[in-house]
Amino acid sequence: MKLAIFGPPGAGKGTQSKTVSMKMGIPQISTGDLLRAESKSGSELGKMARSYMDRGALVPDQVVLGMLKDRLQKGDCKNGFLLDGFPRSIPQAVALEVITDLDLVVNIAVDEERLLKRITGRRMCQCGAAYHVEEKRPRVEGKCDLCGSALYQRDDDKEATVKKRMDVYRSQTAPLLEYYRQRGLVRDVDGNRSIDEVREGVMGAIDGGAPLK
Ligand code: AMP
Repeated sequence: MKLAIFGPPGAGKGTQSKTVSMKMGIPQISTGDLLRAESKSGSELGKMARSYMDRGALVPDQVVLGMLKDRLQKGDCKNGFLLDGFPRSIPQAVALEVITDLDLVVNIAVDEERLLKRITGRRMCQCGAAYHVEEKRPRVEGKCDLCGSALYQRDDDKEATVKKRMDVYRSQTAPLLEYYRQRGLVRDVDGNRSIDEVREGVMGAIDGGAPLK
């Protein structure tokens, strides 16, 4: 199955994508993760991408599409994949159609005031685990349950950048939902609930088969 998980920043796309990817045996492809890895490598491309990410702006399509194309060509994508954080604009969706089609778009909808609280309270580990100061706390304050490394806050999870990311979502990404709705691909899930409840909603949306056109 070829899936995309949609939702505003803080909707829980990354957390839910990890579970879905494991349950379905398809890779989670997060363009945010691909960009962060490129930035960590210290390459010129990574530095350029970082300058957009730190401002909460979208990285230019040419860069993101190049990375995504390479990733989709890997062998593990032949039985399907789950896109997390892509596409993020109508031009990206149009470009994706040239590479591949999608079977389903799962939209995690969350009230705005909840989002800011969720993102600014998010703490990450270098191993990929994510925690939340209000919901999923580590057993030892500031340390990852899985690998013991120190947790950190993503630079772009700080309040000013988050507000900018929300603006970008409203102006560039939200219109994309209508684009996919018109194609009959969207299933909505209420994301204003606990991680476990949202996971059930997401799995139900996927198991429900193709949405009604
Ligand atoms: P995420 O981890 O999905 O929240 O993405 C973090 C940041 O990476 C975003 O705020 C953008 O700066 C950049 N980014 C991730 N995915 C894309 C994309 N599809 N197009 C452009 N920029 C992206």
